[in-house]
Amino acid sequence: MTNATILHYINGEISPGTTSQTQDVFNPATGQVTGQVALANRADVDAAVAAADAAFPAWADTPPIRRARVMFKFLELLNRHKDDLAWAITAEHGKVFTDAQGEVARGIDIVEFACGIPQLLKGDYTEQVSTGIDNWTTRQPLGVVAGVTPFNFPVMVPMWMFPVAIAAGNTFVLKPSPLDPSASLMIADLLRQAGLPDGVFNVVQGDKEAVEALIEHPDVQALSFVGSTPIANLLYEKGAKHGKRIQALGGAKNHMVVMPDADLNKAVDALIGAAYGSAGERCMAISVAVLVGDVADKIMPRLAERARTLNVKNGEQLDAEMGPIVTAAAHQRITGYINKGVAEGAKLVVDGREFDASNTGEGCEDGFWMGGSLFDQVTPDMIIYREEIFGPVLACVRVPDIATAIRLINGHEFGNGVSCFTESGSVAREFGRRIQVGMVGINVPIPVPMAWHGFGGWKRSMFGDTHAYGEEGVKFYTRQKSIMQRWSDSIDAGAEFVMPTAK
Ligand code: NAD
Repeated sequence: MTNATILHYINGEISPGTTSQTQDVFNPATGQVTGQVALANRADVDAAVAAADAAFPAWADTPPIRRARVMFKFLELLNRHKDDLAWAITAEHGKVFTDAQGEVARGIDIVEFACGIPQLLKGDYTEQVSTGIDNWTTRQPLGVVAGVTPFNFPVMVPMWMFPVAIAAGNTFVLKPSPLDPSASLMIADLLRQAGLPDGVFNVVQGDKEAVEALIEHPDVQALSFVGSTPIANLLYEKGAKHGKRIQALGGAKNHMVVMPDADLNKAVDALIGAAYGSAGERCMAISVAVLVGDVADKIMPRLAERARTLNVKNGEQLDAEMGPIVTAAAHQRITGYINKGVAEGAKLVVDGREFDASNTGEGCEDGFWMGGSLFDQVTPDMIIYREEIFGPVLACVRVPDIATAIRLINGHEFGNGVSCFTESGSVAREFGRRIQVGMVGINVPIPVPMAWHGFGGWKRSMFGDTHAYGEEGVKFYTRQKSIMQRWSDSIDAGAEFVMPTAK
C-alpha cells in the first residue's frame, strides 16, 4: 500500500499545483486509504489551460497524418500496458479485474477510431458553383477543450473524449473523478512516450472548484462532461452562459423488456450480468426489468436464486462476479434506496443489505460490501423506479403487454439505454422504432455503440446535440468552415450591387 499524493500533469510534467488541498483515495475492497489526490484550484486550472493554449497552434498545424501516427504509437503502448491500467481501475474503483480489462478494451476501440482522423477530416468540394468559382468545406479544431469524467469508467470515458479531440488537432485538459484518479496519469505518461508534444494533453485533479474554473475559463472552447444528471444539466446551462460548446451526458434508468416469447434462460443471464456487473455502477446497467405477461412468474425464482448466489468478492480474484461499492457514501445512498423501496411497498425478494462479507478476501473486512438486491412488484410511482440508484439493485415491473412496456419506458425522464428480449422480428422492429431512448438493444442487454457509431442518450440522459465519439465526436471537436474561391481571370470588372447568384 502506498500513500503517495496523486498530482496534476501539466505541460508534459507531473505538477504539485499551488495548494496543499487533497482528498483521500480508497481501495473499496479493503476500505483502506491508499493515497491522496490533489484538488486543483483556479490557479492550477489556469496553468493547465495556459499550457494547452500555448501548445495549440503548432499541434493544430501538424498534418493530420502525423497526429494519427502519434495515436498509432499510443495505441501500441496501450496494448502493451492495458493490464496495468485494468489493475489500477480495480484498485481504486473496485470493479472486478476482468471487467476492468473490458473497460480498457472499449477505450482502445476509440483510439483505433481516432487513428483514422485523416479520413474523418476530409472535407467536401464542389467545382464550378458559379463560372470560375469553387466552394469547399473544411473542419478545423476548436482550440483548448476540456473533459470532466465520472468515477465509474476512469479509463474508457476519458477515451471517449481525448483521442478524438487530440487527433482532430485540439489540445486537452482532463479533469478525472477524484475517486479513482491514478489511471489518468498512466494515460498521460503513455501519451508522452508516444511522442505527443508537451501541453497537448494535461490533467488537473480535483472536483467542483476545478470544474467551475474550466467552465468559466475564457480560453476553454468546449467541454465534454459525463456524470450525474444534475451536474450535466448545470454545466450545460453554465456552458451556454460562457459561450462554450457543451456535450453533457447524464444519468440513466435503463429498462430491459422480456417478452413471453423470449429465450428465458438467456434473458435471465442477461439481466443478472447487466444488473449486477460492475455492482450496477454503469450508466448502461439494467436497473429495471419490465416483465411482460406471465414472464415474471416464470423467471422470478431463477432471478432470485442467481442474485442470492452472486460471487461477490475482491475484484482482484479472477472468479469474482461483482466487487465492492465504490465508497462508503455510495453504499449508504444505495442502502437508503433499498429502505425506501421496502417502505413504499415493493417486494424485496433478495436483500443485499444482509450480505455477509466474510468470504470477500483477505483484509477485506472493512470494504464497502453489499450483495445484489432484487425487488418485485415495483410500480412507476415509486422512488426506486423513478430515480437512478447506481448500485446492484434490480427493480422488476410487471406489465400486461408490449404497448404498456413501451408507454412506461417512454414516460421515464431518462432515456440512455434500453433492451428488448424477444424472438419476434415485428415486436423488435416496432420496439426499435417507437422507443424514446438513445441506445437500443434487441436481445443485447448493454448496447454500448461501437467506436465509429457514437454514444449518447436522449431526454435527461444527455444535454447537447452531438453524441460522444464516432463521427458525432469529430463534429463536436471541430467546426466547419466554408471557403469560396475564384481567380482574377474569371472576375468581371466593376462593382456588383446585387446578391451574387450562380452564373
Ligand atoms: P458525478 O456527477 O458526481 O461526478 C462527475 C464529475 O463531475 C466528476 O469529475 C466530479 O468531480 C465532477 N463534479 C462533481 N460535483 C460537481 C459539481 N457540483 N460541479 C462541477 N463538477 C462536479 O458522477 P459520478 O458519481 O462520478 O458518476 C456516476 C454518474 O455518472 C451516474 O449518474 C451515471 O449514470 C453517470 N454516467 C453517465 C454516463 C453516460 O454516458 N450517460 C456514463 C458514465 C456515468
